Formats: sequence, structure tokens, C-alpha cells
Amino acid sequence: MGPALSRRLALARDRFGLRRGSPGTPGTPGPAGADGTQDSPWGPAPVIDVRALHKTYGHGDATVRALGGPPDPETGQAPGVDLVVEQGDLVAVMGSSGSGKSTLMNILGCLDVPTSGRYLLDGIDVGGLDEHQLSLVRNRKIGFVFQSFNLVPRTPALAQVELPLAYAGVKSAERRRRALAALSLVGLDDRVAHRPNELSGGQQQRVAVARALVTAPAMLLADEPTGNLDSRSTEDVLAVIDRLNAAGRTVVLITHEDEVARHAKRVIRLVDGQIVQDLRQAPVDGPPPALSDPAYFAAHAPRTAQAQAQAHAPAQAQLPGAPHSSNALTGSGGGTR
Ligand code: ADP
Ligand code: MG
Repeated sequence: MGPALSRRLALARDRFGLRRGSPGTPGTPGPAGADGTQDSPWGPAPVIDVRALHKTYGHGDATVRALGGPPDPETGQAPGVDLVVEQGDLVAVMGSSGSGKSTLMNILGCLDVPTSGRYLLDGIDVGGLDEHQLSLVRNRKIGFVFQSFNLVPRTPALAQVELPLAYAGVKSAERRRRALAALSLVGLDDRVAHRPNELSGGQQQRVAVARALVTAPAMLLADEPTGNLDSRSTEDVLAVIDRLNAAGRTVVLITHEDEVARHAKRVIRLVDGQIVQDLRQAPVDGPPPALSDPAYFAAHAPRTAQAQAQAHAPAQAQLPGAPHSSNALTGSGGGTR
């Protein structure tokens, strides 16, 4: 490609908001074909590119259509799930129990295979991979965060975070250096020798986040990451996720909570295995909502979150006669923008 053409492509990318991760961003796919990835001339491939995805369990009358929707009575065709997630996005997947969230997450995380449809993960068609290749892709491309932390009992934080690097064959000194950097990124410099039972829930989840990101994966995949946390720890973990995303990391998380979805740049709603709503709350290329205008974001916290924050506020604020309205929290008239 000549310099003039590449300049025009770069201009077009800027104009249409298509600029994505810069070269050298951890997880950015290599040159087309080098490792099976398929870059387009527009830049790196999306992290997730799913077409006509279906997942059914069982057979005959007992068939459960977990993903892809019911078949059209006339054509017999079910619509399937299409989903493209660009590098740098922060996506919340919402939906009631049984709507297919875990099924979708398991497929996106290469923990399960679809009944039909195509899945390109960071440009790699995972449909043709065997179990060993899939485990390599999981290790290299995805950082998992679970509701229940899944830390190793009685093991110091530093060793927990080093573990995925040990699996990847990274040498000991380098493991330690990277694990310390990851723990620092989640604000746990002073807790590296602590074991899970010596850490709060929020701190344990931040260790889990450090472990998930230490391999520089293409995306973080989190299933109800704040489901077991109180409101203060939830805020701590969300603040870490906001910062990671602002630094370019792609994040997909499942959540029931509006307060968590508020942090996302994009909210996807599932009903009966189909995407029924896809809402963009902030541009892919910009900071996540909580960081683009922190004062505005705080002022618009849902009532329950404000009430919980108030419960954490200094006792003085709750003395009789002290300002007690929700506005006292934000120090403003509630935000009029
Ligand atoms: P969610 O995580 O949104 O609660 P799931 O993805 O777990 O929903 O489930 C979607 C649908 O698929 C549900 O009807 C569920 O009962 C069904 N399902 C999930 N896993 C299995 C399975 N292993 N066998 C049969 N049905 C399943
Ligand atoms: Mg589930």
C-alpha cells in the first residue's frame, strides 16, 4: 500500500471514528496471516466478531434454544446472534435469568462451542480449533474474572497473579516483574504477600483482575464480577475496570445491576437468546462514562447507590441538622446538564 493510500485510509478512519488500538497495544493482532489473524485494511480486527450464532441443548421435544432465538414459523429459520465488539470497548451484557448470558459468555470465552455460526476472536476463527489449540487461545487472548473470584486458597496474591505466566512459560524474574506491575495497576502494591483470607472481597476481586490482565489478553471477560461485593468494593472494582478500559483494554462483562451497566460504553440486552437492545452510552475511542465527566457521573448515580454511599459517609453528615439530602453528597443541585 502506497503512502498516499494509507494516509487516506487513516483520514477515513479518523472521520468515521474507526481508529482502534495502536500498533504495539497488547493483544493487537499481528500482520495479516502471520498467526492466522485476518486484519482488514481498516486496521486491527474486532476483538469479537460473531455471526448467526446458535446454541441448542438436547434433541427433539426436549430441545432448549439457549441462544439464537426461536425459529420463524414460516421459514423455520432462527435469527441467530450477530455481535461485533471493537478493540477498546467496554460492553455490559444484561438480561434476566435464563436469557442466555452464560451461554453467550461461555462461547465467547471458548469454554463451549456453538451449535452453529461463526466466531472470530481477535481475528482468529476459533471454529476450527481443537481442544489444545482452544486452551492456548484462552490463555493468550482472554482474561477471565468470575463472580466468586476463583483464587487459589492459602496462596499469596503475587503467586496467584504469576500463575498464568507460569503456564505460558514465562521465566521467574519476568513473572515477578509483570505480576507486581499488574497488582500495582489494581492498587494492591501493599498487599502482594496477603493470602485470600487476609483480603476483603473487593481486594480479592482486584487480585483476580490482576491475574486476568497479567498476560495482556485481547479482552477481559467478566461474569457478574461485582455480584458478591458490597457497594464500596463494587465501586473499587469498577474503578479498576474503568481505568483498564481507559488504557485501551477491551472489557465484556455480564451484570444484573444498572449501577454496573452505567459504567459501560455499550449495553446489550438479551431476551430468550436474542439481542433485543444494543445501546451505545459512550464512544469506543473515548474514556468510559465514569471517567469522561466524573462529577456528572457521580451526580447521576441511581438512588440506591447514593443511599449506600451515604451509609458510608462520615457519621457527622448523618447527625440531626446536618445536610442530609442526596444533594449533600454531590455538593451540587443534582446536575442540570
Ligand atoms: P443466563 O445465564 O442468562 O441465566 P443461561 O445461558 O444459563 O442463561 O441459559 C439459557 C437457557 O439455556 C436457559 O433456558 C437454560 O435453562 C438453558 N441451558 C443452559 N445450560 C444448559 C444445559 N447444559 N443443558 C440444557 N439447557 C441449558
Ligand atoms: Mg448465568
